[in-house]
Amino acid sequence: MSRSAAAGSIVPLPALSDRHIDPHSYPDGIAFLDGQYLPMSQAKISVLDWGFLHSDATYDTVHVWNGSFFRLDLHLDRFFGGLEKLRMTIPFDRDGVSEILHNCVALSGHRAAYVEMLCTRGASPTFSRDPRQAVNRFMAFAVPFGSVANAEQLRRGLHVAISDKVRIPPASIDPAIKNYHWLDLVRGLYDAYDRGAETALILDFNGNVAEGPGFNVFCVKDGRLSTPAIGVLPGITRRTVFDLCAEEGFAAAAADVSVAALKGADEVFITSTAGGIMPVTVIDGVPVADGKIGAITSRLMALYWQKHDDPAWASPVRYP
Ligand code: PLP
Repeated sequence: MSRSAAAGSIVPLPALSDRHIDPHSYPDGIAFLDGQYLPMSQAKISVLDWGFLHSDATYDTVHVWNGSFFRLDLHLDRFFGGLEKLRMTIPFDRDGVSEILHNCVALSGHRAAYVEMLCTRGASPTFSRDPRQAVNRFMAFAVPFGSVANAEQLRRGLHVAISDKVRIPPASIDPAIKNYHWLDLVRGLYDAYDRGAETALILDFNGNVAEGPGFNVFCVKDGRLSTPAIGVLPGITRRTVFDLCAEEGFAAAAADVSVAALKGADEVFITSTAGGIMPVTVIDGVPVADGKIGAITSRLMALYWQKHDDPAWASPVRYP
């Protein structure tokens, strides 16, 4: 029996001479890997790296908007905190990592970029099962800016479904260590797609709302904002919303957010470095309040982007 017949619809294996990687399948950008700056298509790691085999890695993502990093210091704090908790070491200090990120963006030429710094456990030359024998591997890259919500979704609000999948509990993985444990989130996304929604929120271990694939969530009720307190990544955009609320005099708290509270809110929005503050106007097929983007959400969205010109929070990329 031929291989493809046994496997049903599997396509025939390519001849060895056909092995190549299409460089056009990579986003335009620059990576830093093993001491070199490379086009994204050439930035590759071993399949034996624990980051790949065991999701044993931490990372952080900062964005560049109009040629400036936004709140880079906070992202570096979170990244170095994760490294310490995972007992990983890299051969660069904060200034070194910052310089590498500046160089990746400058070499890419992007004025709006999604910039990631990451460290994997690495691999051990003997394929040892002892993580202490792995050589940790630092990498970074800058690719074009991307957003959770596209232009149309930003205009009319995202349509979200609440999945019954439970976010990995903080007793298992400290969510302050930004990580790639995303199977719960990805399964939640498929639940959402099956129900005709555009993205998902999943639950914490008590059945309250937790977060979504790459974002935190806020709701507004009677002028007061709340966002889930436990079992979520302490997002930098979430933190920025608290800072903006303090400046504007809006009451904001981290607390349990039940599914009923979210669905009964006056306004709902999500927050992420990938897109900033993004409105949600439909949950499980039902409009949030009148189904329009709320006044507080709109105000915070405007302030958020204005702050990208404020030298207190924005640091210009050192382009050549
Ligand atoms: N929650 C998760 C699981 C994330 O992966 C992210 C960002 O990638 C966020 C929340 C939002 O965090 P930040 O605002 O720092 O981008």
